[in-house]
Amino acid sequence: MYKIPKEEEVRKALYAVLKKYGYVSSLKKLRDEMAKELKKMDSSYRLSMRRARIIAARSGFVRVEVKKGKGKMEGKNCPVCGNKMKPIRSISLLGEKVVLGYKCGLCGYSGKMDEMPVKYEFHLTR
Ligand SMILES: [Zn+2]
Repeated sequence: MYKIPKEEEVRKALYAVLKKYGYVSSLKKLRDEMAKELKKMDSSYRLSMRRARIIAARSGFVRVEVKKGKGKMEGKNCPVCGNKMKPIRSISLLGEKVVLGYKCGLCGYSGKMDEMPVKYEFHLTR
């Protein structure tokens, strides 16, 4: 049986990992290291990459650096923190409203329609 750790426990694991390394250079490494910390609390705990990323982005003690590459923006939820993003609009030369991309009001991520994060870095801020 897999168990889902509580948010508080995930935050503790996140802090322990970043305290140890200072920063972590990929989402996969962050998740793997956090999963190790969580296993010390309960060996049946499992953590998804998505949840690790969202909790890190919203923790208040982690700065997420995002490297963007070509891709297609999927949905309107922030690919960093999961918050709903706002469209960045512009008026074209023909007077039409166009959406250039999306911006997140929570973590500050913004991306054009043809951009997606390709790499995440996580830094401890305090
Ligand atoms: Zn965000």
